[in-house]
Amino acid sequence: MESDIFLAVDNYISGLFAKEDEALQATRRSIADAGFDDMSISANQGSFLQLLARLIRAQRILEIGTFAGYSTIWLARSLAKTGRLITLEFDPMHAAMAKKNIGRAGLADVVDLRVGRGLDLLPVLEKEPAGPFDMIFVDADKPPYAEYYEWALKLSKPGTLLVFDNVVREGKVLDENTTDEKVAGVQRLNSRMAADSRAFSTIITSIGTKYYDGMAIAVVN
Ligand code: SAM
Repeated sequence: MESDIFLAVDNYISGLFAKEDEALQATRRSIADAGFDDMSISANQGSFLQLLARLIRAQRILEIGTFAGYSTIWLARSLAKTGRLITLEFDPMHAAMAKKNIGRAGLADVVDLRVGRGLDLLPVLEKEPAGPFDMIFVDADKPPYAEYYEWALKLSKPGTLLVFDNVVREGKVLDENTTDEKVAGVQRLNSRMAADSRAFSTIITSIGTKYYDGMAIAVVN
């Protein structure tokens, strides 16, 4: 009963504010057709990320964890013609799916999709230099979230917005004796962000089609 109402309200909100167009629906279909579980953010989360990107008038966005490109499309649509989004994906099959979806959405010229481990590609971005970025969205493997945070700070400037997905994990984050490496990874991130004077941070929780979870959000000082 309780979860039904959360789901219904989430769908009510997305029906009003976050309707998926053909490109986003095709992205969801491509995931099902490939036989993958859908790890993409929800439509409401996509529109929330786009709202944040628009709010700060982001021109350069970095995403770690592309999967099928669903969140990439929501974020890239916030960019003006001169904006660029770099997205990092480890799995070549996910990257191939994302490339098609991003192309279908007409965003091939805006999005630079790079294939490899985040922790290997981030030093390359630093050397280029590809940053500083206006916004960085992290939604990849959870154990190194605290390391991604350090990299995000390196690739930032004052005012850069950092967003980390899945930091509440249905409340499992409360378990101090966890043996789950994903939970331990986000616990490390959350503690570090909370104690860090380099950025001002908080966590917002959400409940709906993506169950009960949260995003850590920070603005770099
Ligand atoms: N942000 C996507 C969206 O909402 O549409 C969903 C991303 S999914 C939760 C996580 C993705 O991170 C997967 O495609 C996975 O292959 C990728 N990934 C896992 N480990 C990674 C790593 N070390 N570096 C880069 N990507 C990684």
